[in-house]
Amino acid sequence: MFDVIIIGAGISGAATAYELAKAGHKVAVIDRYGPAAMASGWTLAGVRQSGRDPAELPLARAAVDIWGDLHEILDGPTHYRRGGNLRLGRSEEELAALRAIVDEQSAKGLPITMLEGLEAVRAVAPAVAPHITGASLCTTDGHADPHATVSAFIAAAERLGATMRFGEEVLAIETEDGRVTGVRTTRARIPAGQVVLAAGIFGNDLLNPLGLEVPLKVRLVTVIQSRPVAPMLEQVIGVANAECAGRQEVSGRFRFTSGIEHWHGHMEDGERPRVRPTARDIVETIQLFGALIPATLEAEVEDIWGGLIDQTPDALPVIQRAGNPEGLIIAMGFSGHGFCLGPITGRICAALVEGRDSGFDLAPFMIERFTRRNDTAASLTLHG
Ligand SMILES: Cc1cc2nc3c(=O)[nH]c(=O)nc-3n(C[C@H](O)[C@H](O)[C@H](O)COP(=O)(O)OP(=O)(O)OC[C@H]3O[C@@H](n4cnc5c(N)ncnc54)[C@H](O)[C@@H]3O)c2cc1C
Repeated sequence: MFDVIIIGAGISGAATAYELAKAGHKVAVIDRYGPAAMASGWTLAGVRQSGRDPAELPLARAAVDIWGDLHEILDGPTHYRRGGNLRLGRSEEELAALRAIVDEQSAKGLPITMLEGLEAVRAVAPAVAPHITGASLCTTDGHADPHATVSAFIAAAERLGATMRFGEEVLAIETEDGRVTGVRTTRARIPAGQVVLAAGIFGNDLLNPLGLEVPLKVRLVTVIQSRPVAPMLEQVIGVANAECAGRQEVSGRFRFTSGIEHWHGHMEDGERPRVRPTARDIVETIQLFGALIPATLEAEVEDIWGGLIDQTPDALPVIQRAGNPEGLIIAMGFSGHGFCLGPITGRICAALVEGRDSGFDLAPFMIERFTRRNDTAASLTLHG
């Protein structure tokens, strides 16, 4: 019998497994595929505080505090680099939007400044195109390697005694008298006192039979990865209207993405799921990012994939203990921002399992907010 079953071996589930195993709980992680098989592998993997919703900013800042030492804590590589986040402006309108972000977030103590003019931007990022007229720069943002990071969490959790069950799908969360009793999978019935649901876009398949639902739209992001080229870019690049983003990995590969797009609904199943963007999405993404960092147009393409995003109406996640059934913790709906948050999501979920105060105001992340509010238009927020 396990104390806690975690559904999902993305960064949210893997980090939660590590925190709970470290605290001495008997934990199992179950994933239909394996570590980082979905959003946590498809991601751009920006570790970003700038441009965050005020409700999410304290979590992002706390996460960034952990990221710097995470490779030592986990005794495994994360390839985290704190090279900054540059959000580029191409018009007066975009520069005005960036200045507003800088004013709002520097007032909250974030080290974010405005770089006015091409010369100032090129002084920190010589690879940007000549039509860039300014940028916001948050110096404590950065990026990491998603597969390495999730593997490091999983390996550390295993060393602390956590059980990994991969290639196994959870079919139902089982309950009795309003309490979680375990899960039923494609292989077995597994009893447990508590369940953490960190299943990304598939979370509602398991919540709906319990009478719960996180309002989600599944969105597509096109991702292009180049072959390694000489190092030329330290920052994660974004734009004011969120139509694309990108970075150069420690390996030298460029990884750049579209904004949030319509998903055509096809996902190929296999050892790992795969989503193929349309030719139009691919062309547009290459043109958009190539217009910002022209050198990417000369790089050989190594891989192209589609990444799916679990987008809630207000682009904030649900992180909470569900009152009914008792013993269920939900962590999903990260809306394209959950990679950075992973280390803190793990700590918050562990606190929720143990019935402790997480130290954060979690009211903005309660599922009940969707029934309370009627202004549920999705805010435009950047992944990355
Ligand atoms: C293209 C792209 C770019 C992004 N860029 C950034 C970024 O720059 N910065 C940032 O912070 N965030 C970014 N994000 C978002 C971030 O990657 C995600 O929010 C985060 O990885 C979510 O992690 P997760 O563990 O909650 O979910 P996932 O990584 O999706 O993990 C869910 C896991 O649950 C498993 N699962 C689902 N159902 C079941 C079941 N029934 N039984 C067993 N297992 C199940 C799946 O196999 C999967 O492995 C991006 C996302 C995408 C797609």
